[in-house]
Amino acid sequence: MNRAIVLLSGGLDSATTLYYAKAMGYDVRALIFDYGQRHRREVVAARELARAAKVRFEVVKISMPWKGSALLDLSLRVPSRGIKKNAIPPTYVPARNIIFLSFAASFAEAVGARAIFIGANAVDYSGYPDCRPEFFKAFQAALDQGLKTGVQKKGIRILIPLVDMSKADIVELGQKLGVPFEKTWSCYNGAEKICGVCDSCRLRAKGFLRAKVIDPVVGMRERKRV
Ligand code: ZN
Repeated sequence: MNRAIVLLSGGLDSATTLYYAKAMGYDVRALIFDYGQRHRREVVAARELARAAKVRFEVVKISMPWKGSALLDLSLRVPSRGIKKNAIPPTYVPARNIIFLSFAASFAEAVGARAIFIGANAVDYSGYPDCRPEFFKAFQAALDQGLKTGVQKKGIRILIPLVDMSKADIVELGQKLGVPFEKTWSCYNGAEKICGVCDSCRLRAKGFLRAKVIDPVVGMRERKRV
């Protein structure tokens, strides 16, 4: 069985990617980062998702004390007024996917995995440059040149199955694959309840609405209010 590493953040996209990799028959190992994000709830969700999917997982704790993002710096506000086209919002984390994929490449090479799945999306997204296909192509070239398995032409492939999908397509795919949506967490604010107004909440809501699927996380929020 081919082994694959799946980057698992606890959100809708990475959860769908996890189930997709499993459905493709890979022996999946999940990689979760506790990187000081304000939405700590996400790490809890990622662990629960890995357990629910019955895959082995590693939680890697890293620190970015220089911050530089509203997701790392509690003194900065997470924008709540919607996504601006062609702008990179303050929730961008400097070099996050470069860091994550570097860890994933090390993990993959050490355990003999030939694929790294990342649930990045460049359609319904916040405009982060490290979520675009151009970035993954360039990073693939770096792995082919920089890894032992790369220069031996037994390279590790970066797979981005959701990159061209809309959020509604992702919800539909997740539903087909049996993703437990109630265990996922997307809100950037990571409080007890979802905020409903951050970019991530807005994108998620749009996806569920267009896919005509009820988001159980929103349902839970409403029930708690009563
Ligand atoms: Zn939110």
